[in-house]
Amino acid sequence: MSITTVGLDADDTLWHNETIFRLTHARFVDLLADHGDEPTIEARLAETEQRNLRLYGYGVKGFTLSMIETAMELTGGEAPPHVVREILAAGREMLAHPVETLPGVDEVVAELSEKYRLVLITKGDLLDQERKLAASGLGERFSAVEIVSEKDRATYDRVFTRHGTGAAEAVMAGNSMKSDVLPAIAAGAFGVHIPYAVTWAHELADAPEDQSRFIALSAICNLPETIKMWNN
Ligand SMILES: [Mg+2]
Repeated sequence: MSITTVGLDADDTLWHNETIFRLTHARFVDLLADHGDEPTIEARLAETEQRNLRLYGYGVKGFTLSMIETAMELTGGEAPPHVVREILAAGREMLAHPVETLPGVDEVVAELSEKYRLVLITKGDLLDQERKLAASGLGERFSAVEIVSEKDRATYDRVFTRHGTGAAEAVMAGNSMKSDVLPAIAAGAFGVHIPYAVTWAHELADAPEDQSRFIALSAICNLPETIKMWNN
């Protein structure tokens, strides 16, 4: 067995993302300060997002709609027009936010692309993810890009069969234990968790019990070495 294919998550693995969401959360809380304290507003927004995920999927557009819905709920359906305008502006700004790759990403992606088939596997809005990949300058390093609606075992099975030699000969690395690591290992791949400074509550999960195909790294710089180790 040798590893032929490496799947990489995008948001908070290759570039900053959750910090931008957190800034918008803070702005949203400020905007609705007359209608609740921070924990209340955050809890309501989280509930709305969770409820809407299966309808809107992941990404900024669904998040923006969930902010509007939460504002309507918190104001008893009386959210003033300027509140809706502010929320829409915040969403648009997120969609235009500059892409900043994380430390070591450019070098690691270049190095890995010489030895393995690199596949970008990400959730989110199609247009936004394509924009960020183009802006990152990393696009040509990848053999394939898969923007998926959910990251589950079947997704990894399908993606690594389509773009590689199957999940058993693939590594998946990302910041989400729940989406990037656990389902990839369940599909038979190796899973690498590279935590980001902050994690969206929805993506939290415990590490797998079987550690033979799992490793946690503090930085992406250690990824090439880890794959080499598994390959021996
Ligand atoms: Mg991520």
